[in-house]
Amino acid sequence: MKVRNFEQGRCFLARLDLDTEIISQIADLAKREGIKTGVFSVIGALKRAELAYYDQTAQEYRTIPVERPIELASCSGNISLRDGQPFVHAHAVLADSEGRIIGGHLMKGDVFAAELYLQELLGERLIREHDPATGLYLWGDR
Ligand code: ZN
Repeated sequence: MKVRNFEQGRCFLARLDLDTEIISQIADLAKREGIKTGVFSVIGALKRAELAYYDQTAQEYRTIPVERPIELASCSGNISLRDGQPFVHAHAVLADSEGRIIGGHLMKGDVFAAELYLQELLGERLIREHDPATGLYLWGDR
């Protein structure tokens, strides 16, 4: 287990803009505010989304398109550095008109309405590196 210590930095609440892409909007906020590491949660609703399931054997994402309005019942994630830029990693639980849920790695989503809570974390750089054992970009030793 690789463990790091951080101090709490600034804390943000943001209403995301209608018809924008949720992941890029969070990344843009991080870049604009100089946030290199953080954790966040979002609740709201999306017009459409794309989830993904990571096939551990094939070591590739299988996309799950969600082409309908859907509640963003829960979304949590983190921000760390990949290729020198803030990289957003988010997972989401989406709920349909019957309250049925689907979930997974959130690749993208078009915002209908969304409220973001973002906690900046201060400390050493947390950098994603390619991990041959999983095929994923995970937090490295640097
Ligand atoms: Zn993921």
